[in-house]
Amino acid sequence: MQLHIKILISLILSFLVGLSANFITEGISEKPEWFAFLSEACSFIGTLFLNGLKMVVIPLVMTSIICGVARIGGEKDFGRLGLKTLLFYSLTGLLAVITGLSCVNLFSPGIVEPEIQAQILANQPQGENGKIEGAIDNANRGMKSLLEIFHRMVPVNLFKAAVEGQLLGLIFFSLLFGFFISKLPSQARDQQTNFWESLNSVILAITQFIISFAPYGVFGLVTPTLMKVGFDTILVMGNFGLTVLAGLAIHTFVVLPILLKLLGGISFVRHYQAMAPALLTAFSTASSSATLPLTMQCITRRAGVSKKISSFTLPLGATMNMDGTALFECIVVVFLAQLFGIEMGWVTQMTVVILALLTSIGVAGIPSASLVAIIVILQSVGFPESAIATGVGIVYVVDRLLDMTRTAVNVLGDSCAAAIIGKSEGETGYYEQHSA
Ligand code: ASP
Repeated sequence: MQLHIKILISLILSFLVGLSANFITEGISEKPEWFAFLSEACSFIGTLFLNGLKMVVIPLVMTSIICGVARIGGEKDFGRLGLKTLLFYSLTGLLAVITGLSCVNLFSPGIVEPEIQAQILANQPQGENGKIEGAIDNANRGMKSLLEIFHRMVPVNLFKAAVEGQLLGLIFFSLLFGFFISKLPSQARDQQTNFWESLNSVILAITQFIISFAPYGVFGLVTPTLMKVGFDTILVMGNFGLTVLAGLAIHTFVVLPILLKLLGGISFVRHYQAMAPALLTAFSTASSSATLPLTMQCITRRAGVSKKISSFTLPLGATMNMDGTALFECIVVVFLAQLFGIEMGWVTQMTVVILALLTSIGVAGIPSASLVAIIVILQSVGFPESAIATGVGIVYVVDRLLDMTRTAVNVLGDSCAAAIIGKSEGETGYYEQHSA
């Protein structure tokens, strides 16, 4: 059975188990013992899988970029490839925020009946283990200004960046490292390239091994979330959630397919099919960084894009190109303005667009990371502090489910970039091999 079918079955099972467990225990303040046991057992498996993926992310990102750039750094292709990647990422990001902005203005999910508004505002949680407060602290400390994103690109201490999982800094260093390998005299260059290529092969083999556990990991990750969230919460925030899902669906089934067809002559059905294991894993882990190993495997083995293109575009995309996140940020900010009755004219909305684009570059590819960026945007457009705290609390209720969906869109956007850029560089024979 193919990997994505296995993952899909495990997802369906986790929806059945998670939502049933939530339904059976609904209204019981003291949850039965089996509930805690099931939740912990699933989380245990899920965390093992997630840890495995995270374990390979840093060596995978570094070795892939170093190999990719060392291979092409000396050629004149390099500048062109870099430019194409940046242009494509900016284009899809811009289209995503425009889609988000249109949806939120069209559906106006924040304009609700006064009683419902009161209910939503009253139901907002005070944060789980202080996570919301933590996020606000983080935003205040870590991303005081947007320029901070650029500071993080050039880390003072490479090892500290690695320990803290600051991918942006590692990417920048790896780009430089690969580039200067390509400038070495030929003997030293070959030595370096061989070393990094063989290291990269080992990491890929480990990655492959971890990925084979995806169906179990996915079940372990999704079930506890659904046990906790249940139907009710999903319903209260229905309109907001539907607006986000509508925006993400338009980006997935209209914008990206048109780009694939127009710019690469690629059928989106075949591309999405090839990427299915990565998309399902992104959905389950809500982390584009943790999904990166699968994204790279699917794009090379199932889609047939060369390592040269994918090892350059994908690690960059996993942190810098987040279409789903940018779209989500836009919707949240305007939604909250509608909910709190804060006037938001077109000029402010355009500022939100720019800020959403910029902050989505700096958002880490980990679960709920965009909440921090949202706080930064809300502060920048002058939301009162109390509204920010309440607003983020409200969004947090349904964030996990939306995070899963937008992460899948983030990963999809990166993969489309790799395929289109590959095609534009004259690559052929895509989607012929379905080996994994
Ligand atoms: N979870 C998202 C990702 O990893 C980031 C976010 O939007 O919170 O791609």
